[in-house]
Amino acid sequence: MAKTEPGPHNFVFGNYAPAPESKDHFKIKKSYDLFIGGKWVKASKKFETINPATGEVIAKVGEAGKKEVGQAVKAARKAFEGEWGQLSGAERGKYLFRIARLIQERSRELAVVESMDGGKPIRESRDVDIPLVAAHFFYHAGWADKLDYAFPGVKPKPLGVVGQVIPWNFPLLMAAWKIAPALACGNTVVLKPAETTPLTALKLAEIFEDAGLPPGTVNIVTGAGETGQALIEHPDVDKVAFTGSTAVGKAIRRAIAGTDKKFTLELGGKAANIVFEDAPINEAVEGILNGIFFNQGHVCCAGSRLFVQESIADKVIKKLKKRMETLIVGDPLDKNTDIGAINSAEQLERIKALVKAGEREGACIWQPEGRLPRKGNWFKPTLFTECAQSHRIVQEEIFGPVLAIQTFRTPQEALEKANNTPYGLSGGVWTDKGSKIFKMTTGLKAGVVWANTFNKFDPTSPFGGYKESGIGREGGVHGLAAYLNF
Ligand code: NAP
Ligand code: MG
Repeated sequence: MAKTEPGPHNFVFGNYAPAPESKDHFKIKKSYDLFIGGKWVKASKKFETINPATGEVIAKVGEAGKKEVGQAVKAARKAFEGEWGQLSGAERGKYLFRIARLIQERSRELAVVESMDGGKPIRESRDVDIPLVAAHFFYHAGWADKLDYAFPGVKPKPLGVVGQVIPWNFPLLMAAWKIAPALACGNTVVLKPAETTPLTALKLAEIFEDAGLPPGTVNIVTGAGETGQALIEHPDVDKVAFTGSTAVGKAIRRAIAGTDKKFTLELGGKAANIVFEDAPINEAVEGILNGIFFNQGHVCCAGSRLFVQESIADKVIKKLKKRMETLIVGDPLDKNTDIGAINSAEQLERIKALVKAGEREGACIWQPEGRLPRKGNWFKPTLFTECAQSHRIVQEEIFGPVLAIQTFRTPQEALEKANNTPYGLSGGVWTDKGSKIFKMTTGLKAGVVWANTFNKFDPTSPFGGYKESGIGREGGVHGLAAYLNF
């Protein structure tokens, strides 16, 4: 275990005075219903959503069964054939602009609820998630009346009713990635948020009400995996848009095989972050940290495999450890927090099991000193050295704050190791040489590759994977095409 020296930057797990964001400027209801056909519809069953940092129940939420999912699809069909379907692109754009502005107005509330329900640091939900949510609606608002220019000469048409199922790691952002392009293209939506993070999607439904969105245009059915399954299997759903694990993505493909449903699947990843000896090292170290510890590592495109050129490996690892000792793990609502709570007890168990496997298989674990909070789900930022390509921590998606480090000597070796994975979602390259960036970015089999930065997102930029990381793109013009018939 590393030693820490006293000094202004050597706080370990929160020696700063607490600076919690306030929770008294908005209301969370004790109980939420389903949002169907513009109304709040009672579900026959309810489940609890929990704050993973405290273990406390935040609210009860409706669990939609087959019947309620059917009602939601029916409402979406009615809206598609009725009011929403008959609007011009310019009118649809006005609604999207209105929604974007309402999101901005309620951004503080949305950020706090996102951090409470999911465990992510308030700094991230406030400065990354929610601004990107608004940006996504603004961007697609602009496209709504310009589809003929985006796809000249082919007269694009909406698909109809879209069934969308999203994960818990970026709850509102994934909802925005799904809903905004679908509406811009004239479709109607039934969305199922993740079981552990339903609240911000329900807040978004309140925003749809305030925006006067025609009833049934977007329907929100909360629930667990079975609700998602009922939605994607519903015969009147024209397209399935799914973000989640590769295992469920495969199950969805099997479930809709033989139907004429369109689909896009955004699945898991195991990104390589590759650092060359000519890279600006301090910046690269920040990029490595951001790559793996952003959102507790619950990131599909996380830079979870680090490849460092052998000549600088010792130096980089030393700097990395020093920097990891300064990371504050704790209260997600505290503005100083770097690493929040693990999203669920179940996810924490999954992380622990893979970390154990790493130790058992012979990799060398390192964690900074410091105590974790007693209540709630927590995991220390962790790195492994002495990793082999065959180790489970190198092959499997951990989806937690755990970095597996390997070294390389030549660019070719880095490429071969980086591509030796069933995934292909993202990657990172750190070097001073432009030519090396081109060589690596063209050689990496990944949908997104960042050079001298990591985890940068923009609504104009398409995102998606190769191989077991999925099919289709979200964002940009490519993302629009996935919601249109030509
Ligand atoms: P998950 O278990 O696959 O769940 C995703 C969503 O699917 C949840 O809403 C889930 O409901 C629902 N679901 C579960 N079984 C289903 C079924 N048989 N049919 C239809 N829906 C079903 O994934 P997760 O653990 O929530 O999220 C983590 C995964 O998402 C990671 O692998 C990550 O890499 C991936 N991800 C990918 C991207 C990307 O853009 N490529 C972005 C973010 C996350 P419950 O909530 O009740 O389980
Ligand atoms: Mg929760």
